[in-house]
Amino acid sequence: MTIRTRFAPSPTGYLHVGGARTALFSWLYARKHGGQFILRIEDTDLERSTAESVNAILEGMTWLSLEYDEGPFYQTHRFDRYKEVIAQLLEQGDAYYCYCSKEELDDMREQQRANKQKPRYDGRCRHLKAPKEGVQPVIRFKNPIEGSVVVNDVVRGNVEFQNSELDDLIIARPDGTPTYNLTVVVDDLDMGLTHVIRGDDHLNNSPRQINIFKALGEEPPVFAHLPMILGDDGARLSKRHGAVSVMSYRDEGFLPEALLNYLVRLGWSHGDQEIFSLEEMIELFDIEDVNKSASSFNTDKLLWLNQHYIKNSTPEHIAHHLSWHMGQLGIDPAQGPELSEVVVLQQERAKTLVEMAANSRFFYQEINEYDEKAARKNLTLTSAEVLQDMYQRLSALPSWQAEAIHDHIKECSVAREIGMGKVAQPIRVAITGNTISPPLDVTLELIGSERTLAAIKQAIEWIKDRAELQE
Ligand code: GLU
Repeated sequence: MTIRTRFAPSPTGYLHVGGARTALFSWLYARKHGGQFILRIEDTDLERSTAESVNAILEGMTWLSLEYDEGPFYQTHRFDRYKEVIAQLLEQGDAYYCYCSKEELDDMREQQRANKQKPRYDGRCRHLKAPKEGVQPVIRFKNPIEGSVVVNDVVRGNVEFQNSELDDLIIARPDGTPTYNLTVVVDDLDMGLTHVIRGDDHLNNSPRQINIFKALGEEPPVFAHLPMILGDDGARLSKRHGAVSVMSYRDEGFLPEALLNYLVRLGWSHGDQEIFSLEEMIELFDIEDVNKSASSFNTDKLLWLNQHYIKNSTPEHIAHHLSWHMGQLGIDPAQGPELSEVVVLQQERAKTLVEMAANSRFFYQEINEYDEKAARKNLTLTSAEVLQDMYQRLSALPSWQAEAIHDHIKECSVAREIGMGKVAQPIRVAITGNTISPPLDVTLELIGSERTLAAIKQAIEWIKDRAELQE
């Protein structure tokens, strides 16, 4: 049997962390077993589904590299097929028209509550002989009245539901459009899905869906309901907890592999291993090892993973993602050194790509402002002399290389009988506008002689101008 799994989001918002975890687990399971992963857009709720949301979901999947083998299939393109199945269920006597008005249903529920019964549709239209004139009916599925349904769930074990607890659910609205539980079953069948991996908020839908599978004479797929994801405060993860949309993690400077590595550990583990490459995830993941209990989202751990991947990925890979962040800051990475060479210098010192981009601005843009505190301390009249000295030494350098630059900084400090910091720090402020940068010699090598000398000159002028103003 070829394993076929799916991710079936409703396009009513962005791709959130919970959805991405579901997609990842379904994807991993298919990849592990040489199967297929299918993307299905469940857009039958015409009022809430939007094209923007479809795009946001596709963008999130692409960013995470969760490539699908088939789809995206859109449920709105399949209405004829759903109508066909609804007609079949009517024909078989497994579905019926219901003409109950809203008032009638409200009265019914009120009475049930008064009698201390659980409110549910009582099946009163099951036996109607003739249609009620002037009323657009809904169509209900005839759920078995007796017995029970067992959801044989890979994660949760056997979960039994009494049929007496399940009402005759609506499978077509008055305008004839099908509802969620019907479309899911038809699609899961037509698309030949072997495993339905989804959030446990759908567990209660499974017995209803299993009954529809049975009415259609088909075996249901294997179910795996994934445990909830909680925020740090123990409540279900939601917007309140900060970034929840996958793309907002990109915006905040996370690498997709850090987020994937983080997501795979939400509900799944392999001993106490924390770092998993995609290849390792595929090799080690099994849906049977997913645990039942809810897992908590921990931003610090995600940051830790991000830092790990920033340190350990190839500079070219980081540069590919960093480039986007540079663009967001209005920096054109073509106007300066090769981005991957900048990454080599910054890799050890950034927790996020946003931080790395901000700290790399000076490689591509001239400094037109100095940090006040840094300037007060390092751009003084005394340091103007040091900068002048260094300007001369560096202008005379025959080859612009880190080692030679380093030697000259050292020579200057020896000649002036000051510490190397007193030479290096004013140059650093002149170049970066601040006191933070990778080692100065390699930084200057990368920036090049022309821009370095121009920046030193600019700082000297700035010091002089200020001194004049203060006189
Ligand atoms: N469309 C449903 C949702 O976004 C998922 C349905 C399913 O996985 O069966 O919650």
